Amino acid sequence: MHQFLLREPSKKTTAAEKGKIILSRIRKVIQTHFPELFKSFNNLTDRRKREEYSMTEIIAGALFMFILKETSRNAYNNDSGDEQFQKNFFKYFGIRLPHADTIDDVLRVLHPEELEVLKMHLVRGLIEQKIFRKFRFLGKFYTIAVDATGMATFEQRHCEQCLSKTSKNGVVTYFHYVLEAKLVTLTGLSISLASEFIENTPGRDFKKQDCEQKAFVRLATKIKKHFPRLPICILADGLYPNNTVFNICEKNNWKFIITLKDKSLKTFQTEANLLKATAWKKNVYRADTTTGTTLEYAYLNDIEYMGRCFSWVECNETVVNIKSKTKVPQRFVYITNIPVDQQNIIETADSGRLRWKIENEGFNAQKNWGYELEHKFSRVSYFALQNYYQMLQIAHIINQLVERSNAVVEIMKEHSKQTIVDLWKKMIAYLTIYQCDESITMPYQPG
Ligand SMILES: [Zn+2]
Repeated sequence: MHQFLLREPSKKTTAAEKGKIILSRIRKVIQTHFPELFKSFNNLTDRRKREEYSMTEIIAGALFMFILKETSRNAYNNDSGDEQFQKNFFKYFGIRLPHADTIDDVLRVLHPEELEVLKMHLVRGLIEQKIFRKFRFLGKFYTIAVDATGMATFEQRHCEQCLSKTSKNGVVTYFHYVLEAKLVTLTGLSISLASEFIENTPGRDFKKQDCEQKAFVRLATKIKKHFPRLPICILADGLYPNNTVFNICEKNNWKFIITLKDKSLKTFQTEANLLKATAWKKNVYRADTTTGTTLEYAYLNDIEYMGRCFSWVECNETVVNIKSKTKVPQRFVYITNIPVDQQNIIETADSGRLRWKIENEGFNAQKNWGYELEHKFSRVSYFALQNYYQMLQIAHIINQLVERSNAVVEIMKEHSKQTIVDLWKKMIAYLTIYQCDESITMPYQPG
């Protein structure tokens, strides 16, 4: 005989409760970490003649396009155009969300530097709140990963600043790249400290196109200007071990851990390889339920490169799958201006590998987890393209803090299949369907 099991009434969080929790956490993160956020939007240059909405509402609209993980301006319009949604949103944040076209008109004429400076101000606030203190490398340095990523590609020239490339069969594509400096932590935070757009200068020779190397010089100047006393350790990939970068780091009093590819800095690597037998080594074994990992660390100090001495760090990793016994070996080599010793070798090599976080938690998250980094929010204006990009960075910072709050971590633990994207969908549903009973303590009162 069959025995039917009745489902016990679930003690787990309901869909509506989940939506409400996410919404409340977003408001809480803004109130706690960025109390002046909405107010600061009103200080941006307003070039409009007619003012149906305040600058705060316009810029907050752009910000919430990304906080709510709307995938396009149209998706944003559909949600924010709903009457119930508007009422509920106002109850939570005390602002009205304008139509996407109204936002776009403003973002096309607002100088992108204004939003970049605002973003840096917000990040400085987080640093002052000591959010990243416990993640500092050697108890002192903030690990800043530097890397470039594509923002958009176009078949036709999109604006005068477009970069271009011609394929083998003569097809020209136009694209935009941005060089990012992100504060990264072992726990996966990836916070945009500064962004430098890699752009074509109108009228300049095609062969002299801007590139990541040139953009790094400008990016470094910007970071030094806005974070003059911040103890920084730059993490960068195999494109970066060169004298220009070493000089910049020395001048700015920055530490660096930079990936060495087999062919880069040949004289430096040859000397390191000659002395390798004498290098101090340390082996570590780490295991979890599925894999066992052997890490073999080695280092050498005082290796000369063009009149200066740096340290060489190597980590040979072998990951063994416990079940299948398959082995995956990998080798990581770094050049650093940190004198390495037996105490700091593991932390130094492991911090070098943190650079990878900018690709994973930074760029991939922004491309694939609802932020649509590559979606063409603006097809015509270079200013707007950059401004949407900055709003995406600020939204991503806010959402990372929301995702790490205890309430959200607890929901994620309830069910192994629970995803962040699903929680955000529940929030949109909550805003659209329910009559929020929220007694408002608004972070911003218009007027
Ligand atoms: Zn363009």
